[in-house]
Amino acid sequence: MNAPLFPLFADLRDRPVLVVGGGAVAERKTGALLRAGARPRVVSPTLTDGLQAWRDQGRIDWIEGHFQPHWLDEVWLVIAATDDGAANRAVADAAEARRLLANVVDDAGLSTFQVPAVVERGALQVAISSGGGAPMLARHLRRQLETLLDDSWADLAGLFARQRERIRQRFPRLGERRRFFERLLAGPLPRLYRQRLHAQAENLFQSVLDESVQRAPEGSVALVGAGPGDAGLVTLNALRAMNEADVILHDRLVSDDVLRLGRRDATYVEVGKSAAGHSARQDDIHALMLEHARAGRRVVRLKGGDPFVFGRGGEELEFLRAHGIAYEVVPGITAAVACAAYAGIPLTHRDHAQSVRLVTAHCKDSSDTLDWTSLAQERQTLAVYMGVAGLEDFRARLVEAGRSPSTPFALVENGSRREQRVVTGTLADLPETARSHQVRSPALLILGEVAALAQTLHWFGPAPLRGDAAPTHSRNLPAPTLQAA
Ligand code: SAH
Repeated sequence: MNAPLFPLFADLRDRPVLVVGGGAVAERKTGALLRAGARPRVVSPTLTDGLQAWRDQGRIDWIEGHFQPHWLDEVWLVIAATDDGAANRAVADAAEARRLLANVVDDAGLSTFQVPAVVERGALQVAISSGGGAPMLARHLRRQLETLLDDSWADLAGLFARQRERIRQRFPRLGERRRFFERLLAGPLPRLYRQRLHAQAENLFQSVLDESVQRAPEGSVALVGAGPGDAGLVTLNALRAMNEADVILHDRLVSDDVLRLGRRDATYVEVGKSAAGHSARQDDIHALMLEHARAGRRVVRLKGGDPFVFGRGGEELEFLRAHGIAYEVVPGITAAVACAAYAGIPLTHRDHAQSVRLVTAHCKDSSDTLDWTSLAQERQTLAVYMGVAGLEDFRARLVEAGRSPSTPFALVENGSRREQRVVTGTLADLPETARSHQVRSPALLILGEVAALAQTLHWFGPAPLRGDAAPTHSRNLPAPTLQAA
């Protein structure tokens, strides 16, 4: 096996570097050199518009013509980026003769240095090399790292660079310094930067620096929305939180596909509530969050959809605040948004609906407090959560309040998941249709003119099933029966 390349970060500020070639590749390389503060000299008979603009701004020198070896005499490095193999080889040979490091773009054999794939977060750079053998693999890895490193890394790198001298004075010995950094990074500092609380972050840094005694590690809770089930709908912030977690407390609604994205050696606890949602269980969840956070662990409280949409996220934050536990919130794609998209139902539409309401008619009490007159308005879409039970009551009240029995609905079961089913019909037949197709939780009811569009705009999974009591729109429900119901 060949010896590995020697990794190297070069200081090229104000140093001339030769770029041979004036095309798109040369422009890209020149741009990278400019970012590093170098003084590129571009040798080529012609320039791209971008290179020309830099030349007009005085940021690069242009040597009009073809490569001559003596142009190497004044530069620190050379990059050959022409599409002419012989020209590239001539550059490589001339550089070799002068013991100058040369990179020939896309030719590892001719190159004496490689330009790595880079992930940048402020002053922090992660460079990835495959030794020139598998640049695609290096790029692939770079994309993965891009998703894993949030912006707080740039802030941390900036802080540590600014405070470098003070840290050295305070902890002259390397071992002490290392422990100091570990303490800082395991604590709330990265989170404070993610929350854009820069002043608090600096204060915390200060107090840890001044402290002579070690404080116990501080735990925290991230309230994270897991989306509706499709792992592709998890946000990058959710992914990062799940990868930093010590404990993941998740609802039953969170899909296995999403759970698989979490850190392997985190502790997973299912704290799911059934539809009845007993408050005793909610107290247990509160107690669990508190116990783990107080023990210094990073807790992710993972909820289906979005934590603030019928997810009791508000109550959990109130509890955390009351107990002095630090928290952050990562929104998720809520069921209404996901189910609509995956069923081909635009929630608003210039011709059919000007507004959307997210409602739950979950418990009997709540249906008494809902304003049915406003819910029954036309040209409005209702997205009803936890709506599988109580459909008779829902239909009766809406029709009574004036919504037409011919209003289309779509029931989306297991939205965005492999098992997704969509059942459509009209309000007149809603409970019967749901029953005959045995629609089960989790299912979301979308009611409104837009729901009819599922028949033509569907794109995911099997085509929507129609209510079998045909022809639905001609069946009218007499009002007196409904009032009696
Ligand atoms: N916080 C969640 C909602 C929790 S309430 C969110 O923002 O989506 C639970 C209800 O959400 C379920 O009864 C169902 O009505 C709906 N729901 C959640 N995920 C769903 C899915 N994948 N498909 C259909 N409905 C879903």
